[in-house]
Amino acid sequence: MKFDTKTVHGPERTHDNHNAVSTPIYTSTIFSFDSIEKGIAIHNEIEPGFYYGRLGNPTVEDLEKTIAFLEGGEAAVAFASGMGAISAAVLSNISKGDRVVAPASMYSTTVRLFEFLAKNFGIEVVFSDSTKTEQYIEEIGKGARLVWLETPSNPLLEISDIQAIANAAHKTGAVLAVDNTFATPFNQRPLSLGADIVIHSATKFLGGHSDVTAGLLVSSRNNVKKAREVGLKFLGASAAPQAAWLVLRGVKTLALRMERHNENAQELAKRLAEHLGAEKVFYPGLVSSINHEIAKKQMSGFGGILSLDAGDEEAAKRFVSKCRLCTFATSLGGVETLVQPVALMTHATLDSEAKKRAGIKEGLLRISVGIENIEDIWEDVYNSLQNL
Ligand code: PLP
Repeated sequence: MKFDTKTVHGPERTHDNHNAVSTPIYTSTIFSFDSIEKGIAIHNEIEPGFYYGRLGNPTVEDLEKTIAFLEGGEAAVAFASGMGAISAAVLSNISKGDRVVAPASMYSTTVRLFEFLAKNFGIEVVFSDSTKTEQYIEEIGKGARLVWLETPSNPLLEISDIQAIANAAHKTGAVLAVDNTFATPFNQRPLSLGADIVIHSATKFLGGHSDVTAGLLVSSRNNVKKAREVGLKFLGASAAPQAAWLVLRGVKTLALRMERHNENAQELAKRLAEHLGAEKVFYPGLVSSINHEIAKKQMSGFGGILSLDAGDEEAAKRFVSKCRLCTFATSLGGVETLVQPVALMTHATLDSEAKKRAGIKEGLLRISVGIENIEDIWEDVYNSLQNL
């Protein structure tokens, strides 16, 4: 099956759902057993089956199997949010004293999680520029246990070389986790490039309609088992069946939506680069962008997010205030075009040193390019850029 067919049909279904074409939403938090033997075996996870909502649910399992199928992984586990998936991935792969190598520039809450673990739990965290492959590999070689990547990154769309970094991680015996939220499996499949774990905020493109918060982790059966124990059993960050169903529905149109997101973002990036100068526009599909050749090698499309430098904080605020079509809201990956001044919002929680390290300038705007007609998007963006 080709990828777009896979998104529509998903993997083979194992449950008897009366041949329902759309996966039913199972709201039951408990599941009864046919016999004492079966009950004990299922409850002790010796046999597959459901017994308690926090630890498994048929609707949620359907989502897990679907995303594992699309990412080409053995198994997956769904969470209440992307941060649930990230926390489970991190906490199930490190222990006291371990060294973590993570990108200097990425989603601010992931940065803060690593800072928190470094400060309170004796983890050694090195933030390094992941676009500089040699330098990153050198830091990994000093004994990393966990290597993190987010490519393309939030908000600067930085590209890291997954294959080269996976090889280096494995040489040292480290696990490589890649946050694939911005690319989605439509554009990039990190496991096929050697990564061990793939993370998603399904709140973004997988859900796709700005109406669900969820997360996913895809990996080997063994890694997923560890992440389930930490993330579901201990942290309790389980995905609700209603949320899982919304993501399942979103995924059916993932290929169609991503095609349009890619096309619109590429065109908007091109027009903005012509209008403002390429140095002010951040999009991996621009030939002028750092590591464009690596992006071309590991991605089949460059995604729906771009950033631009409006100059300063006041200019960024004026741009957002002038937008009529582009919606001023946090988050990304919905069908509607979304805009936000990054330094003042999602990345405002970083201290000044972390902001500097991440290269977040005061006037940075992130645009999640929707699936509207590109001419309408351009008209709004162009008008909002006047007299900044
Ligand atoms: N990963 C990336 C790249 C993100 O941009 C975000 C949120 O913006 C997350 C993870 C966290 O996802 P969630 O908000 O679903 O917890």
